[in-house]
Amino acid sequence: MSTLSTLRVGGPVAGVCYPASTADLSRLLKALSRLTIPWQVVGRGSNILAADSGLAGVVILLGSELGRIQPLAGEGLIHVEAGRSLSGLLDWCAERGLGGLEFAAGIPGTVGGALKMNAGAWGHEMAEVVEAAELMSREGGISRHEFQPGELAYRSWPGLGENIISAAIFRLRPANPEKIKARCRELSRRRREKQPKNMRSAGSFFKNPPDEAAGRLIEAAGLKGLRVGGAMVSTKHANFLVNEQGATARDFVRLMRLVQEKVKETSGIDLEPEVRLMGRFDDP
Ligand SMILES: Cc1cc2nc3c(=O)[nH]c(=O)nc-3n(C[C@H](O)[C@H](O)[C@H](O)COP(=O)(O)OP(=O)(O)OC[C@H]3O[C@@H](n4cnc5c(N)ncnc54)[C@H](O)[C@@H]3O)c2cc1C
Repeated sequence: MSTLSTLRVGGPVAGVCYPASTADLSRLLKALSRLTIPWQVVGRGSNILAADSGLAGVVILLGSELGRIQPLAGEGLIHVEAGRSLSGLLDWCAERGLGGLEFAAGIPGTVGGALKMNAGAWGHEMAEVVEAAELMSREGGISRHEFQPGELAYRSWPGLGENIISAAIFRLRPANPEKIKARCRELSRRRREKQPKNMRSAGSFFKNPPDEAAGRLIEAAGLKGLRVGGAMVSTKHANFLVNEQGATARDFVRLMRLVQEKVKETSGIDLEPEVRLMGRFDDP
C-alpha cells in the first residue's frame, strides 16, 4: 500500500485491480463476490492510512482508466467517472467555462474519493456542486442516487455504506475561463503558503471540531515538531502529520493517539481523525 498512498506507508495486498469501465467494475465485483475475495476501494490514496500488515484481499483502484467526462443535457450538467482526478476535472471545466469547483484546486484526490469524503476547502465543499452519483453495490449492481440537502456531512457521506461511487453528476455554472484559472492559481498559491512543501502527508489529519481548528489546538498544545519514529507533526501546519523519513503506519497511529491525548489534556476536546484507517491496527 505504500506506493498507493500519499503517506507512503502500509503493507502488502494480494493484488490491485484497475477497472477501465463501469461494466468492468461490475464484472469484477461479481467475480470477487462469487469467489468471496475481500476488497477495498482506493482512489489517489490521499486520505488513507493503511496498516503495516497490509490489507486482506485486493485493492480496487479507481484512477485515470475510469476518468471520462461527458457533458449532459441541461446547463452546466456534467457526468464524471469516479477515477478522474480533481485537478484534471478542474482543467477540463476551466477550458469550457464551467465554474463552481475552484475551491478544490490543489486537493490531490479523485472524484470518487472527494465525494466519499465530501472534500472541501475555503468554506466550500463537494455537496454544493454535486447533484447525483452512480453507485455500485458490493455485488456489482448499479443504481443512481439523487442527493437531498444535508445528506453529505462534514468530510463524510454517512449514507454511502459499502457502495462504490462509480460516477458523479455535477451542476456547475457558466463562468469566464480566465477568471476560473486565475482563481485556481490564487487558491493553489495560498495553499502552498500554508501547507508543508514536498512532504508526504494525507492533508489535514484530524477533522476540525465545531467552531475550532484542529491545527490551532495542536499548536496550542505545543506539539509542532513532535515525532514518533519517522512520523512528525508538521512544523508548518500542525494538522498535517508528515512522513519525515521511513515512517511506518504504526508510527502514525502512535503519533495520532499521542496528539489526541495531549489535545484532550490541554483543551478538553476530542480530535477525530479525518484520514481513513484501513486494515488492522490492534497493537498498542
Ligand atoms: C497535500 C494534501 C492536501 C489536502 N487538502 C485537502 C483539502 O483541502 N480538503 C479536503 O477535503 N481534503 C484534502 N486532502 C485529503 C484528500 O485529498 C481528499 O479527501 C480527497 O478527496 C481524497 O480522494 P482520494 O481519491 O485520494 O481518496 P482515497 O484517499 O483513495 O480514499 C479516501 C476514502 O474514500 C474511499 N473511496 C475512494 N474512492 C472511492 C469510491 N470511488 N467509492 C467509494 N469510496 C471511495 C476510500 O475507501 C477511503 O475510505 C488533502 C490531502 C493531501 C495529501
